[in-house]
Amino acid sequence: MSFAELKLSESILKAIAACGYTEPTPIQARAIPEALLGRDLIASAQTGTGKTAAFMLPALERLATLKKGPKGAPRILVLTPTRELASQVTEATRTYGRFLRIRSAVILGGSSYREQFQALSQPLELVVATPGRLIDHLDRGTISLDRVEILVLDEADRMLDMGFQQAVEKITAATPAERQTLLFTATLDKTMTQLAARLLRDPVQIALAPQGATAVQVEQRLHVADNLEHKQRMLEHLVADNALNQAIIFSATKRDADRLAQALSSRGHSAAALHGDMNQGARNRTVRNLRQGRLKLLVATDVAARGIDVSGISHVINFDLPKFAEDYVHRIGRTGRAGATGTAISFVSVHDLGALQRIERYIGKTLPRHVIPGMEPSRSLSAPPRSPRKPRPAGVSGKPGGKTGGTGGSGQRRTGGSKRSQSANPSKAPQVIYRHSR
Ligand code: AMP
Repeated sequence: MSFAELKLSESILKAIAACGYTEPTPIQARAIPEALLGRDLIASAQTGTGKTAAFMLPALERLATLKKGPKGAPRILVLTPTRELASQVTEATRTYGRFLRIRSAVILGGSSYREQFQALSQPLELVVATPGRLIDHLDRGTISLDRVEILVLDEADRMLDMGFQQAVEKITAATPAERQTLLFTATLDKTMTQLAARLLRDPVQIALAPQGATAVQVEQRLHVADNLEHKQRMLEHLVADNALNQAIIFSATKRDADRLAQALSSRGHSAAALHGDMNQGARNRTVRNLRQGRLKLLVATDVAARGIDVSGISHVINFDLPKFAEDYVHRIGRTGRAGATGTAISFVSVHDLGALQRIERYIGKTLPRHVIPGMEPSRSLSAPPRSPRKPRPAGVSGKPGGKTGGTGGSGQRRTGGSKRSQSANPSKAPQVIYRHSR
């Protein structure tokens, strides 16, 4: 199928051609015709499949023959869970809408209100927003959703995971009932189906990838790690490999991301952290540096890295395994974008067995074990830990200096449990190990 067969207007086809796309991806081929017919959609497609264009092209098509929109009342609203994804969707709007006169605004938490007030006081047609700040504007009366014709819920599953369900429902209730709703989700569980039943009208369901399917073009590997120091050595080896162009390295906590990025930088690598504690300006700069190839290694937490789409990323390294299986799929989807190949490497210690089993069950396959010659693990994954730690009283970390965080603390969201803190050698605090490794 060609894009021309999708019956998009000339200016959109021209923009697609300028991107170098020769044919629609499967999700685009299925979703665009239905969306152009005005149908509601619930589409489950894995990340990296071209889903942004799958909703953005029909949305822009609706705007292609547009008269000037009213002030602060968009016709298209795209809701995304994170600021990074919102920025990315905004960029896609500019790319695909470059030959259209479309004014868009991006409404994000952590960004200046002044600019947003200014943008919303102008006529505009399209708004990309994260739910929290959009509710804020709704409450202040600085935006009206009365004229929304198309509502897109991008990565809706993640919005629910992040606790935005009420916000999403409130925002939806502020849009006209006769709007068209396009819901994209990586996973389609009961909660999502129930949400869809409330928000969508007679939707066309498009399920391209079986739930949990991982991008086929991503080679996945598992390295058994003894402890944090072993992970450090393996990481050092991997980042020195010429085959690695750019990598996202996932850590369990924001503090770990900072420490690891610092440790890598101090060893002469071009590395930076990306996490939710950084201000929006710093986050944008970091993602821009990554996109422009000025940054080779990005050490990130799950939420921050969601939606990052940089074609140069050859490797994803799970320095820490994600606690939730869906996050594994999202993480490795940062590489192997749009037909490129990529490598996803996970460091797994004996204490991560539970998380590993959940991931392998979810993706429906066993991750192949790899060993770096000279860095063999001293024990196999199935072996029980040598000396299980006794639970400590709350507030006692057992690390020099009494600091918390460090090796563990995967409790970024959903649970506060810190399973992984048991995985590293308990006698070594991360601060000490990072210092040693410089
Ligand atoms: P997404 O799943 O929306 O994050 O898109 C993943 C990547 O696919 C992005 O880098 C897009 O630029 C690229 N892409 C989207 N549609 C196409 C297409 N039809 N042909 C080639 N690349 C595409």
